[in-house]
Amino acid sequence: MSLDRQAKELAASGKDVINLSAGQVDLPMPDAAKEAVRAALEADRTGYVPVAGSADVIRAVRDRMGWRDGSVLISAGAKPLLSAAIACIAGPGDEVLLPTPCYTSYPEMIRLSGAVPVPVAGDPENRFTASMARLKQAVSARTTALLFNNPVNPTGTVYRADELRQIVDFCIEHDLYLITDEVYDTFVYDEPFRSLYGFSEVRDRLVLVNSASKTFAMAGLRLGYAVMPDRAADTIGACLSHTLGCPCSLSERAAIAALEANEAYRLHLTEVFRNRRDALYPLLSAIPGVKVEKSAGAFYFWLDIRSTGMDDAAFCRTLLDREGVALTPGSAFLCPGFVRLAYAQPEPVLTEAAARLRRFFV
Ligand code: PLP
Repeated sequence: MSLDRQAKELAASGKDVINLSAGQVDLPMPDAAKEAVRAALEADRTGYVPVAGSADVIRAVRDRMGWRDGSVLISAGAKPLLSAAIACIAGPGDEVLLPTPCYTSYPEMIRLSGAVPVPVAGDPENRFTASMARLKQAVSARTTALLFNNPVNPTGTVYRADELRQIVDFCIEHDLYLITDEVYDTFVYDEPFRSLYGFSEVRDRLVLVNSASKTFAMAGLRLGYAVMPDRAADTIGACLSHTLGCPCSLSERAAIAALEANEAYRLHLTEVFRNRRDALYPLLSAIPGVKVEKSAGAFYFWLDIRSTGMDDAAFCRTLLDREGVALTPGSAFLCPGFVRLAYAQPEPVLTEAAARLRRFFV
């Protein structure tokens, strides 16, 4: 966030800045969703809606996501759903397993609930996936949940079916809730996405969160959805009703229009981002001193910059100063020595960024 702000300030002062630090889709949301907001405003649909979300929106979410069992809750983005789920499942004295590198907000959400985040370092030899051996070492009698993310921000890793199966078995064996964040499910490029919802044996302990922020380029409209066991929904719903209140009535209309639209928009997004990835990967991997794997999902490349001997935050500051390229230091994701590059910009901008990075290294 602070690098993003710094990049914007530099750009405002006239410097030619390429900002690859923000995790935000740069394309417009679907036309049908825009139209739905206009129509809802015209119809004065500006009152409260049900705290768990309006029935027609819940129906649209169930249809599109294939969520048949359990309860669905709608809220203001994935974040409040994740943080309410953590608050209801973990409290003071409890521990939550957290595979790292991980999304910046997860450790803070866990701390806000009074529980302790237990980072479990991903295996650098295996796309930074959660290592079973390390998870087994880290679990204790105080562990109540595993907080999981797939596709992964910041590494761009997508878990394979056999790896997901291990996560599921682990949570069942240790009687843990599995809280999972699948907000990047549209951004999977080489194989069909496997949702944890597909593992029916884990559904009675699964809180699965998704949102319209990335899928429909609606991050500012704040609309998320989650499926979970009924007993969890009672508590998490109550928590949201006393804190956030109901979802935004206009965003609900936008979401329903987007959810009911055909697959064309989703396919378009996936293709645009796959093309960007394919164009950028050879350029990045040809830079001497940078180690990078091909991003399989989300819209991030995860660059190993340890060969520079520089601290990752200092690396990002110097790169921004010298070349006007903003990246995010890995320490923001509990993994120093790496930096995250978000390819949510048009191809020519990405090509120019790669050229500047190369100049920085050579
Ligand atoms: N989860 C992950 C992994 C993210 O990267 C982000 C945003 O960058 C979010 C959740 C936030 O989603 P939302 O805007 O729906 O709250």
